Amino acid sequence: MGRYRWRTTLRSALPARCMTLLPKGSHDCGDHDWYKSAENLYRCYHCRPGARTSPPDSAA
Ligand SMILES: [Zn+2]
Repeated sequence: MGRYRWRTTLRSALPARCMTLLPKGSHDCGDHDWYKSAENLYRCYHCRPGARTSPPDSAA
């Protein structure tokens, strides 16, 4: 096992846990970090208004 493997595992486990403990903000966070929520649906990790149907790496 790689030396820092546990950190990667921990980091990948954190977002879901943080979302449970810390509900998303109800206002635009101003600096969205996108994740794919469903096919053709992308959401922001930080706020509820952050949602889009086009991939984050394409022009909005
Ligand atoms: Zn946001």
